[in-house]
Amino acid sequence: MASVASTVPAVRRRRLNEAPGRKEGDYVLYWMTAARRTRSNFALQHAVELARGLSKPLVVLEALRVGYADASDRLHRFVLQGMADNRARFARKPATYLAYVEPSPGAGKGLLEALAAKACCVVTDDFPCYFLPKMTAAAAARLEVAVEAVDGNGLYPMRATERVFTTAHSLRVHLQKELKPHLSELPAEDPFKGVKLPALESLPRGLEREWPMASDALLEATPAALAALPIDHTVGPAVLQGGSEAGEARMASFVAERLARYEEDRSEPELEGTSGLSPYLHFGHVAVHDVFRAVVKQEAWSVESLGPSNGGSKAGWWKMSAPAEAFLDELITWRELAYNMASHRPDDYFRFDSLPDWAQKTLKAHERDERPHLYTLDELDQAKTHDPLWNAAMGQMKRDGWFHNYMRMLWGKKILEWSPSAAEALTRMERLMNRYSLDGRNPCSYSGYFWVLGRYDRPWGPERPIFGAIRYMSSDNTARKFSVKKYVEKYAP
Ligand SMILES: Cc1cc2nc3c(=O)[nH]c(=O)nc-3n(C[C@H](O)[C@H](O)[C@H](O)COP(=O)(O)OP(=O)(O)OC[C@H]3O[C@@H](n4cnc5c(N)ncnc54)[C@H](O)[C@@H]3O)c2cc1C
Repeated sequence: MASVASTVPAVRRRRLNEAPGRKEGDYVLYWMTAARRTRSNFALQHAVELARGLSKPLVVLEALRVGYADASDRLHRFVLQGMADNRARFARKPATYLAYVEPSPGAGKGLLEALAAKACCVVTDDFPCYFLPKMTAAAAARLEVAVEAVDGNGLYPMRATERVFTTAHSLRVHLQKELKPHLSELPAEDPFKGVKLPALESLPRGLEREWPMASDALLEATPAALAALPIDHTVGPAVLQGGSEAGEARMASFVAERLARYEEDRSEPELEGTSGLSPYLHFGHVAVHDVFRAVVKQEAWSVESLGPSNGGSKAGWWKMSAPAEAFLDELITWRELAYNMASHRPDDYFRFDSLPDWAQKTLKAHERDERPHLYTLDELDQAKTHDPLWNAAMGQMKRDGWFHNYMRMLWGKKILEWSPSAAEALTRMERLMNRYSLDGRNPCSYSGYFWVLGRYDRPWGPERPIFGAIRYMSSDNTARKFSVKKYVEKYAP
């Protein structure tokens, strides 16, 4: 709705269709698909501002499908717990929140159309990975009302540049020149602050009969509630609790208690040295902007402290403590490097042939090398290899739904070594992570798999069998560098 002013930067907003807005509609609709939260959410902020500008109620639809390949008790429980938090939080806001959980594949078909038919316009999230971009594009093509997607993924808007960065260093150099103004354009912590919106008179007729909203009991995600859904019950819930409440608590404890030791502890598999926030960032239960704010507060930092560009060096630009700078390098440089690739190369960021030429060439040259250990996907899935440390990494992923960064690097390198081809290794990494890891199906998943295969890296010598010039890692070296004995004991299958 071009006639209504928005505080959400234009570079973060994009029209997904040509259909006009309807001033005479009953409400503004926010279709929440990726930023599953009420706080620091640019898409929600935009929808609230449109509703205010048009003096209309706001309806928020958060839906959960069952008909996708990886739907399981694990993923469902995490998302349902997030929906329970959202229901409680929206109850205190001037908005109508609809939590819809599909009872059977395809049952949700038509719900978005029915809601959009009475809407002034539709706002949704601009997430560049998994089936979401195709799903939102297809919906926008069908709907007869304006649909706008809003990018709330990172601190640097995905479309602020046309460049595709091929190394972390080149993105760091770029961010040191370009990021500063965006740090003063963070989303409103509470998009409803000081906002009054009219109450919704009614939803479209018959809507709740045809698509009954989730009961509070279902959102509790009890074993019985999960058992009743047609999803994969062999991948059980992880211990980690989903939702903004749990995510925000984790963020606060990390920043207060563990950030100061991040540099020393982050690569130690036996320590809880990192934030553990990736599942919450993936499902949008926590905003990266709030994580940044928490670090800024802890460091008593302000944007004026930012140093001049220092040639892309990891340390010294932020003018924060060394551990805070190391953490922001992961949270911003490495994370947004992944979003940059996924958003700018939507057709091939996940395809093997998107690897840099040198990496494809060297892997191809070693494709026929003898593989002393060759495992099937099933053997990998069951953690039945000769390598106890690798088996433990797989065990951590399967049990906790998350595993340690350094172990992910080793895990991927061994899958490359033990698979019939590099392309097959990519497929296997994707399959296992999609199935078990709460933070899988994310741009950072793909940057991780492709890092294993050479992206964002350089050729290394000497050339090795299977790997060629791709960086090699070994379990023995990992065990020499870090303490892993207790890790292996804890996660051995
Ligand atoms: C083979 C492989 C697969 C990976 N798969 C995923 C995945 O599916 N989902 C995912 O979010 N990350 C993935 N990563 C990146 C990284 O391992 C995880 O982001 C990190 O371990 C998550 O733990 P944390 O939240 O405690 O990280 P922290 O160290 O606390 O970092 C904070 C945040 O920064 C981001 N981040 C940290 N390290 C990286 C990195 N190397 N690349 C991109 N972003 C990073 C994440 O959003 C993370 O939550 C993968 C890495 C590899 C090598």
